Amino acid sequence: MFELWPKWVSLVYWGVMGAAMGSFLNVCIYRIPRGESIVFPRSRCPQCTHPIPWYYNIPVLSWLWLRGRCAFCRGPISVRYFLVELWTALTYVGLFDRWGWSPTFFILAVFLSLCIALFFIDLEWQILPNGLTVPGTVVGLLTMGPNTLVTWESSLLGFGLGVTLPLGLIGLYWLVRREAGMGLGDVKLLAMIGAFLGTQRLLMTLMAASVAGVLGGLVLWRIHRTTPLGRVAVPFGTFLCGVAWLVVFWGDAVYEAYHRWLVRWYLEW
Ligand SMILES: [Zn+2]
Repeated sequence: MFELWPKWVSLVYWGVMGAAMGSFLNVCIYRIPRGESIVFPRSRCPQCTHPIPWYYNIPVLSWLWLRGRCAFCRGPISVRYFLVELWTALTYVGLFDRWGWSPTFFILAVFLSLCIALFFIDLEWQILPNGLTVPGTVVGLLTMGPNTLVTWESSLLGFGLGVTLPLGLIGLYWLVRREAGMGLGDVKLLAMIGAFLGTQRLLMTLMAASVAGVLGGLVLWRIHRTTPLGRVAVPFGTFLCGVAWLVVFWGDAVYEAYHRWLVRWYLEW
């Protein structure tokens, strides 16, 4: 394809844009669960409420420069701010490297930005706000045409399975334990993942996140020894979002390796 400038210029550009997007995601992560507006007021230190001027609000760099402390009250600033900005920047660079200037790049940038925000909100609050998952699902369905990762059948079926499969699991769990094993937030998140990634990657995400969630639950149980095993609260949405991120970048490679292994195993028999 005809290039106006070398690819690394675009990669640097999307790294900067990703870091700026991460800065906005930090605002969403802090304010949405608190029911605050994500537009007003401007950023303030959560401890001394001093407004943060732009030169102390430069993504990734300011946190390092201030060594994770507020410039005014010296109160600690969560490492989450730094991690979200860096993770989003790397995500945009990775997506552009793979998909270039294409509709799929922009669609996946929206999807993974939502995943990063939901990852941290569920981790801290054990909620997956409708304000992110529902519009996300709508965007996923509306963009299934230009999204080259899925066919429209796979996107629609992924959405349908994303709704019905967890509802079925919740129903089964309720029959056995007489309580909800998953929240409805997880159902909406799975519907969103299905709409963006299609059937196959949805199932891969659900299976890998379940395994990771069980292992994570066991680790938490060992740490908080007083909580009975069945009572450990696992932020399943965090695992789903983290695995969905991995599946976007490496799902195909894992699937192909598995397929090759299966064929070889079959031939050797
Ligand atoms: Zn402060």
